[in-house]
Amino acid sequence: MKIDIVTIFPDFFRGPLDYGIVRRAREAGLVTIEVHDLRAFAHDRHRTVDDRPFGGGAGMVLKPEPIFECIEALNMPSREQRAGKNQSVVLLSPQGKRFDQQVAGELAKVERVVLICGRYEGVDERVGEYLADCELSIGDYVLSGGELGAAVIVDAVTRLIPGAVGNEVSTRQESFTAAELGSGDGPGSTCASGGLLDYPHYTRPAEFRGMQVPEVLVSGNHEEIRRWRRLVALKKTLRNRPDLIAGTTLSEEDKRLLDRIKSGTENI
Ligand code: SAM
Repeated sequence: MKIDIVTIFPDFFRGPLDYGIVRRAREAGLVTIEVHDLRAFAHDRHRTVDDRPFGGGAGMVLKPEPIFECIEALNMPSREQRAGKNQSVVLLSPQGKRFDQQVAGELAKVERVVLICGRYEGVDERVGEYLADCELSIGDYVLSGGELGAAVIVDAVTRLIPGAVGNEVSTRQESFTAAELGSGDGPGSTCASGGLLDYPHYTRPAEFRGMQVPEVLVSGNHEEIRRWRRLVALKKTLRNRPDLIAGTTLSEEDKRLLDRIKSGTENI
């Protein structure tokens, strides 16, 4: 996979791309990431990439010409030619579709992704309208620029590229991850989240400053552990992200556990 990042602050990415899974995936050749300085596509000696908004108003707006020229220099086909070609140009924007684990999974299958980072009051609307395939937001808040969002997307997508994470099963058993049918990782398996939040994890020591690891986890009873993990995942999801429950395929056992959680008869 190839990811190109277009930004006015290329140095921003020195840190985020150089650690952990992203670094290892780059070194293993699973992903190639190139950062492009938008100012290299400016036409004046001040390397101007922004201008005042038509119609007045606060702040500056990133101009369209450098962005269009940068994408053309990356040899990306036009949007029409790109359709169905496994290539995607993404504009980071708080007004975009919400980036989530599902979108990360879709992007991880794309051969080439270009991420355009906005700044100031945003980007000339023609970039979103005629150049980008989609606008993505990393959450309902306004950041100063798209760089943090691009780093988030690179990280979340890279770890889903086959081979990037040592134990691939673990990426199918994480929060928000709906198990694929027939994968054996469904709600009935030991620990797949099936679209819920992940279950809690503990490690040694079993007792730390008076805080105990839940007894069931050291019982050696795998069926009990599976059931407990599912119960806690359901309980936590209900408490912190009830919206996820509606989008999850619940097993009969899940439904029973949920009823007991709601009625307060299941004590964890
Ligand atoms: N005026 C815009 C608005 O109110 O929707 C906000 C512009 S923001 C200050 C500048 C740039 O930061 C945006 O063009 C975008 O690239 C990036 N950005 C800000 N918040 C973002 C978010 N939640 N997700 C993705 N990108 C974001």
